Amino acid sequence: MIYIQLNQRGLIVSNQYFGGSVEISEFFKDFKSFTLDGTVSDSVWGKHPREHSYNLSNLPDKEFIPCTNPQCRKGGYSIIKILDKLSLEDVGDVKKSLSCSGDVGGGQSCTYSFNYSLDWEK
Ligand SMILES: [Zn+2]
Repeated sequence: MIYIQLNQRGLIVSNQYFGGSVEISEFFKDFKSFTLDGTVSDSVWGKHPREHSYNLSNLPDKEFIPCTNPQCRKGGYSIIKILDKLSLEDVGDVKKSLSCSGDVGGGQSCTYSFNYSLDWEK
């Protein structure tokens, strides 16, 4: 379960419950539409692709989309970072890429990314 906390500017984030935070479904209750479609893969070669698709009847239930790089450590893609854009506008349609936050050892960053499209209407 994802919990989020709202402030004036948008979403602040947490996957833990604490005062003032709400379940993610509560945040989406006034939305007319929401879709998030994307693919995790190697940024250069497109290796190990895995698709993810979410909408109002299938909301994300974990904060991190897992990285598919077999060598990746502590990687992943924060749903909260992605959803933060939803708080800026009532209607939107964005295409973005989020780099993996993990590493592959030896001080090297993971080169995988999550390429996604996000659209919504409140
Ligand atoms: Zn990674």
